[in-house]
Formats: sequence, structure tokens, C-alpha cells
Amino acid sequence: MSEHPDVIASKINRAKAIEIIPIKLKNMEDKLLDKVKKSKRNPTEKLVNLYGFMEKVSASFSHLTPCKKGCSYCCEIRVDVSEMELSLIKSKARKAYNDATKDLSIGEPCPFLKNNLCSVYEVRPFLCRRHQVFTPTNDLCANNGDLGQELLSFSEVERSYVHILSESSFEKPKDIREYFQTEHSE
Ligand code: SF4
Repeated sequence: MSEHPDVIASKINRAKAIEIIPIKLKNMEDKLLDKVKKSKRNPTEKLVNLYGFMEKVSASFSHLTPCKKGCSYCCEIRVDVSEMELSLIKSKARKAYNDATKDLSIGEPCPFLKNNLCSVYEVRPFLCRRHQVFTPTNDLCANNGDLGQELLSFSEVERSYVHILSESSFEKPKDIREYFQTEHSE
């Protein structure tokens, strides 16, 4: 079966994106895991620093991705989030946390999606930052499936995230909707 033209374009755009990331950031990424391991900061501070690093990397190729404000297709798929990330949201975006929609299933929008915008954008979880596509438009995302388009992926960023989680005492990630279920009495 031949590949969808957008999938082919996403491979080309992803390669371009990697090409234009400033060398300084590429070098930082090479040493990221080591730096995270050696840092004396607590896991939450390390996570915030990791988010900051991802933002700098993403800014360098933002013109090559259709992931923009107002697009929320990936907010309807499974979003695995650690308790640590949720705790950060709770401390930095308390109102949005309290207003989170309850009793949702996968396929329904994330509890934090309000008026098609992320209500916790500044402290959105790791997966939301990593989920960036390189297709010319978001048409494939509208199908809500893994259609083979290239995603953002940096090994040291991933490893650093996993390491930070391993340093925390929080439970392992689960779908973000599972944190917002009301108890139903029989
Ligand atoms: S936290 Fe924000 S970006 Fe992530 S799935 Fe929810 S609404 Fe979307």
C-alpha cells in the first residue's frame, strides 16, 4: 500500500526540523540525561527545566508543524500523565485543575480542554509537548488514529523524562481522564 502524501511530507519536514535545530540545543540534548542525573534539583524542578528545554527546541521548527493554538485533535486520544505532572498542574493552575471536567473516557476531550484550548497550557504534561506532527495540515490528526505520520522524538529528552519519573515517589503514568472520575455509589 502506498503511503499517504501527508505521511511522506511529514518525514521530509521532520528531517528538515532536525536539520534546523540550533547546534547549541543539539549539543545540550546530547548531554541532557547526564545533566539531569547529576542535578541536585528535585524531580519536579527537573521536569520544569525539561519542559523549558523542549519549548526552545520546538520553537526552532514551529513553522514546520500544524500543531497550533486551537487544534486539539490529540487532546482526544489517550494521554498518559504521571502523578507528578498532575501535581504540578494542581499547584500552578489550581482553578483549571478544580474546573477539570469529570467522568470522561478516551475519545472524549481531555478534562483540561476548554473552548478548544488547553486551560493548563503553561504546565501541560510531557506527552502533550512531545506530540507534535510534521504533516502539512492537521487533516490526518482529525482521523484520531496512528496513521504513520512522523512525530517529534528525541531520545535523550525521552530518557530524561523517564529518569525524572523514576526519581519521584509518584505512581506511574495513567490516562489523564482517570484522575478525574467521580465515585458512583450503587
Ligand atoms: S493537558 Fe492540554 S494539551 Fe494536553 S491533552 Fe489536555 S487539553 Fe490537550
